[in-house]
Amino acid sequence: MSNFSIFALARNAMSYHENWQKQWRSPAPKASYDAIIVGGGGHGLATAYYLAKEHGMRNIAVVERGWLGGGNTARNTTIVRSNYLWDDATHLYEKALQLWEGLSQDLNYNTMFSQRGVMNVGHSLQDMRDIERRVNANRLNGVDGVVLTPAQIKAMVPIMNTSSSLRYPVMGASFQPRAGVARHDAIAWGFARAADRLGVDIIQNCEVIGVQREGDQVVGIETTRGVIKSKKIGVVAAGHSSVIANMAGIRLPLESHPLQALVSEPMKPILHTVVMSNAIHAYASQSDKGDLVIGAGIDAYVGYGQRGSFPIIEHTLQAICELFPIFRRVRMNRQWGGIVDVAPDACPIISKTHIKGLYFNCGWGTGGFKATPGSGWVMAHTIAQDRPHALNAAFELNRFNTGHLIDEHGAAGVAH
Ligand SMILES: Cc1cc2nc3c(=O)[nH]c(=O)nc-3n(C[C@H](O)[C@H](O)[C@H](O)COP(=O)(O)OP(=O)(O)OC[C@H]3O[C@@H](n4cnc5c(N)ncnc54)[C@H](O)[C@@H]3O)c2cc1C
Repeated sequence: MSNFSIFALARNAMSYHENWQKQWRSPAPKASYDAIIVGGGGHGLATAYYLAKEHGMRNIAVVERGWLGGGNTARNTTIVRSNYLWDDATHLYEKALQLWEGLSQDLNYNTMFSQRGVMNVGHSLQDMRDIERRVNANRLNGVDGVVLTPAQIKAMVPIMNTSSSLRYPVMGASFQPRAGVARHDAIAWGFARAADRLGVDIIQNCEVIGVQREGDQVVGIETTRGVIKSKKIGVVAAGHSSVIANMAGIRLPLESHPLQALVSEPMKPILHTVVMSNAIHAYASQSDKGDLVIGAGIDAYVGYGQRGSFPIIEHTLQAICELFPIFRRVRMNRQWGGIVDVAPDACPIISKTHIKGLYFNCGWGTGGFKATPGSGWVMAHTIAQDRPHALNAAFELNRFNTGHLIDEHGAAGVAH
């Protein structure tokens, strides 16, 4: 195929995508629905899609205060993997990864899921012990993973500085070959289009400002476009879950933090996998457009401003330049922040509440993008059946009463 036709194809695909976005008209909300999903990010749209597809519910609305996928779904660094430590988390993320593997076909929309592998670098003996433990736990759960030596890392990523004289020497890494990256807005638009085809009403510019109850039963929401009635309401509003919970008189064990990322100018392909390091608080991949996609850990303070602070960016870029000296003169193009809600055990909450018909899906912290299809799939089951699926039973709110926390700080950390 000549270059010309490749560009023409790309242009056609882009203009189709853009035209479709412009033509999207949010319907006026109906007076009532069988279920309402609050939040038009990837997780909310996936929940609506699977409610319609797997559970036959069609009278559903997704209400979004801004535009589809304008929250964290559009702001993340798109790392998809399933190599968490504990069984409950691994099974949930692995379900998501398996759905990712067939998602473009299922949605008939190219999610650009690219299984280029994810490498987690270790810089100390303790890092390496943790990495070996995690890889062994993954393999016992049937999840792919290997431990790499510095020589194997160098062979895979020749531009990485693996010198033993580094401040944080590279002592090895874990590698999950089936992991990778995807296109963030495609997941929102893919689920939106597929849900729309099944009859779901997707209503933008519709902010939830109140939750209506009759006794212990939820009966509707107050929005900037009026009251909408429903006896099943699923809140999937990452970063703002506590605000909406507050409207229903519920206090969630979550903190909302800024999390930022940045991308460079585009370059020829040079980094063919995702490289992450918990210890130095940085990670990088190269997008299909050629820009480096770089991220860090959360900003330590709480807040709702969708921007980050400078020390984090500086610290992250220092770390990236130490690992990849070749990137020292690369210019950064854009920087932005999202707001993530973090639970005390770095694991999500996908749960019923003591208010009948009110469900929450939140607390994904720095790492919910990878879970998008799996999260929507189990949330749809929880709402439709009014009980958790086996895959999210361990992620109910009552774990904060029983103390059965699933501590994934080691696997979540900066490493999304
Ligand atoms: C910089 C950054 C990097 C990240 N990198 C990764 C990564 O590499 N891999 C990974 O797995 N995860 C990553 N994450 C986390 C990931 O982005 C999130 O966990 C995930 O996108 C959450 O999806 P969501 O659909 O729940 O949230 P969102 O996309 O944020 O959707 C929630 C929606 O709810 C809406 N909403 C809020 N309040 C209201 C209201 N009152 N009424 C109506 N609507 C409301 C918001 O406008 C928003 O659109 C990253 C996040 C950030 C910020």
